[in-house]
Amino acid sequence: MQNLPLAGYKPERTEVSVKDMTVGGREMILMAGPCAVESEFQMQEAAAAVKTAGGTVLRGGVYKPRTSPYAFQGLGREGLRYLTAAAKERDLLTVTEVIDPASLEEVHDQVDMIQIGARNMQNFQLLKLAGQSGKPVILKRGLSATIEEWLSAAEYILAEHNPNVILCERGIRTFETSTRNTLDLSAIAVIRKISHLPVIVDPSHAAGHREYVPALSKAAVAAGADGLLIEMHPHPEEAKSDGAQSLTPGELQQLASELVTIAASMGRSMNGAGSGLDSLRQKIDSIDSGIIELIAERMNVVKYIAREKSPDRIRDHNREQEIIKRLGRVAAELNCPAELVREIYASIFDHAIKAQLQDKAHRLDSAAYGR
Ligand code: PEP
Ligand code: MN
Repeated sequence: MQNLPLAGYKPERTEVSVKDMTVGGREMILMAGPCAVESEFQMQEAAAAVKTAGGTVLRGGVYKPRTSPYAFQGLGREGLRYLTAAAKERDLLTVTEVIDPASLEEVHDQVDMIQIGARNMQNFQLLKLAGQSGKPVILKRGLSATIEEWLSAAEYILAEHNPNVILCERGIRTFETSTRNTLDLSAIAVIRKISHLPVIVDPSHAAGHREYVPALSKAAVAAGADGLLIEMHPHPEEAKSDGAQSLTPGELQQLASELVTIAASMGRSMNGAGSGLDSLRQKIDSIDSGIIELIAERMNVVKYIAREKSPDRIRDHNREQEIIKRLGRVAAELNCPAELVREIYASIFDHAIKAQLQDKAHRLDSAAYGR
């Protein structure tokens, strides 16, 4: 009998590696695709869009657990072929949901990861089989599951000696009706504290409306999520399921580029498998805007610092040397040349001093004239 669940605390975080991808490492992983696989062409378009946005994993349900038995139930084996062929063409990994032993067996040798959906989080037989399958599992949080119940569900997979479990927060049921579910951002922080397992976020099922997806995605990355699982449809208005919450390809690309600087502020990169000149340039544009915003903010703070200094002690060479030394160490750790830091900061310090002197002069001037 074990006291601590394996899904619970251990000092080192678990990294789940699938081919070239590692979830739970330095990289923030983007997984995206339609709710359901609907056609060969749809998946080809979706795969192209995921690749352009810098995504690593193509999602698409072929066995859909629907609330109504009359709703589209998925294309099954035929859909699986569309998913895997489109992913292969774009060099993406695949994930699809399994709902029972038969679907697990069907997809086992075809996809890179399996997903256990919110409605099956406590399907213990399925969890055990997923554990025995040895496949990496994305385990979604049940609609009304506590974090403890969620970790216990993960435990069923781990107990079968399958360590490759990725938790996925996807919103929980609350009294709020303006969104489909309520994204529990606190769960990310809690999981990171009490569990070693990687945790990703599905903002789409929480939001229920595509216009909320970018904000929730950004908040999730800022809260420490290891990745995002986002619904994106090449033509959401034609989607057979979850069209209202699906981003368009353009929206996904825009969001991915905006996430770059947020991920960087969390010490994570978003290189993904992203390729293509346009996509890479979009990332660079986003990084550059972030750099300028931070420099502008630094210049702003610098003025306030000047007000705390006596006019003859505006420049402090010792402090400048300390900053350069410290940043040189940070840069070296990130494989960035220390020389670059020295050059950039020489210029930043010069401009900072200039701004401080100007500010001081302006304030003295204003005081003299009683303005
Ligand atoms: C899905 O990913 O399409 C899905 C059904 O999600 P959930 O299990 O979180 O509702
Ligand atoms: Mn869906």
